Amino acid sequence: MNAPFVSPIQDLLDDLHARLIEQRAGEVATYIPELGKADPEWFGLAVATLDGTVYEAGDSRVPFTIQSVSKPFVYALALQDRGLPDVLKQVGVEPTGDAFNAVRLEPYTGRPYNPMVNAGAIVTSTLVGGDTYEERRERILSGLSAFAGRELVVDHKVMDSEAATGDRNRALAYLMHGAGTLTCDVEESLRLYFEQCAALVTTTDLAVMTATLAGGGINPLTGETVVSVEAAAHALTVMATCGTYDYAGEWLVRAGLPAKSGVSGGLIAALPSQLGLGLFSPRLDPRGNSVRGVAACEELSQRFGLHLMRPAERSGPVFHRTLRGDTAHSSRVRAHDERTALARLGSAIRVYVLRGDLAFSSAEAVVRTISEDTGSVRWVVLDLKRAGRVTSVAETLLEGLAAKLKERGITTVVVDTEQGVTIPSAVISETRDAALEWCEDALLEAEGASRMTVPLAEQDLLRSLDPFLVTALEAYLEPREYAPGERLIEDVAALCFIISGGLARQFMVGTPPRPVRETSMGPGTAVGRLALIDDAEHTHRIVAESPTSCLVLTTRELARLERDSPRLADSLRWSIANAIAARLRRTDAENHALIH
Ligand code: GLU
Repeated sequence: MNAPFVSPIQDLLDDLHARLIEQRAGEVATYIPELGKADPEWFGLAVATLDGTVYEAGDSRVPFTIQSVSKPFVYALALQDRGLPDVLKQVGVEPTGDAFNAVRLEPYTGRPYNPMVNAGAIVTSTLVGGDTYEERRERILSGLSAFAGRELVVDHKVMDSEAATGDRNRALAYLMHGAGTLTCDVEESLRLYFEQCAALVTTTDLAVMTATLAGGGINPLTGETVVSVEAAAHALTVMATCGTYDYAGEWLVRAGLPAKSGVSGGLIAALPSQLGLGLFSPRLDPRGNSVRGVAACEELSQRFGLHLMRPAERSGPVFHRTLRGDTAHSSRVRAHDERTALARLGSAIRVYVLRGDLAFSSAEAVVRTISEDTGSVRWVVLDLKRAGRVTSVAETLLEGLAAKLKERGITTVVVDTEQGVTIPSAVISETRDAALEWCEDALLEAEGASRMTVPLAEQDLLRSLDPFLVTALEAYLEPREYAPGERLIEDVAALCFIISGGLARQFMVGTPPRPVRETSMGPGTAVGRLALIDDAEHTHRIVAESPTSCLVLTTRELARLERDSPRLADSLRWSIANAIAARLRRTDAENHALIH
């Protein structure tokens, strides 16, 4: 039994966790006394994608109070319930560059500067739908739960601890009440806010909540629309400009992601349309941001190429098409036995045709999909010909995938792009057809089903003939050997080549001027001039690729056969017609497999 497949993305997270856990700078917040009880060593990391996959490392399931990380979510709920114009009347969207608890309101309007500082968040809590304190309280808790995709509860100890000591927030609330921005009862508003901050979440919850914002308000786990696309986008925008207190500018330059931090050590960051990150470690820097959280997030952004201001990844489905080796085949013409073996065992070959730019999210989807489906697979073809930009993070993830597949005896063949990719653990191939042929050969060889030589009686062309006629025919066939590079069909007097050993390739002659590799044929197959049937010109060039042995029927011998045994000549013509018909039927089936 193989050990469970560990995604290269998981490896990256584990590695990051192992390195950054050594980082012990910073202090646990104690101004809310209960927060001081946190274990300073806690460190959790989580990444949630928009299709609901969550990667996590460390203490990602340890519950802690959400604190200020609740602010963008409650802001989104307020926008959803009241609309932007009404919310804007009471809370601005300008960055302050001040600390989270700054006592400062906009001159003239008395509005708090933005919903990410405490003043703004206290007002925002009162703007969610509901006419009474109870209704708003219920709206906030159920709204946060909908973001997380599970029911959240409040840590009353932390809430009471803050209520008992939160004089600064109290001062802010009275100030805003005096200025007319906070219209609800002051003590009730503060209670609402303290309760919101004391909701218990895990790092994994934070990643899912953030992925919900990144996905336009739709929770990736439950599929529930929690807020509108507009509300989610507005919340992300304010996170980008004001989310990390007085570090917001440098943060955006370094990590390039909308983010929000909180004093319990939580940190979230979103890449719109792609993913949500959740981080947690209680030691804070002097600005109140988690030391490990900031370091981890900045590194994840760099390693995964997440900076928002980089050229965007062209999104859309990354899988253009997926094929299996039992129904889709290379253009190699194979003898009956090999065809049968491929039909039976070919599902061990999977071909994934990818499209669009390959950056973190698309590569993550590729790695996950392929690693989830390795049961009976032994060869994986990744066709990158249609892919656009293949970023270095995609190369790293695909290399990680190929290396892990290799450990389980699965070979990856990459059909390269024009620019060329570096995936050392994969076999590189120029075309999908060549890659597929390579995998088929490897499979047939591994199964002992490849035929090095095929005697006349087993030749595809003659399978339907009476064995007695086959023996009679042998006298009219001339054995010929071709060295690699030699052309088979050059001799106009030769009509039909039955390949008993070796390999020949067929190229289109003429247009385009460079010979185009079309197909190849191995032992057990035959190639001939259609002249055998209709006198037409031959349009292909056939070249031996390895030493090739053929049995050749020439014009002269065919004439002799007609004279000696018209019945045998007739049977031969029928066999050829049957073989052509069978091949057309197979081509049809192939096309069908490709189209559907
Ligand atoms: N409840 C905390 C306060 O208002 C939240 C602060 C934060 O997490 O930044 O002080």
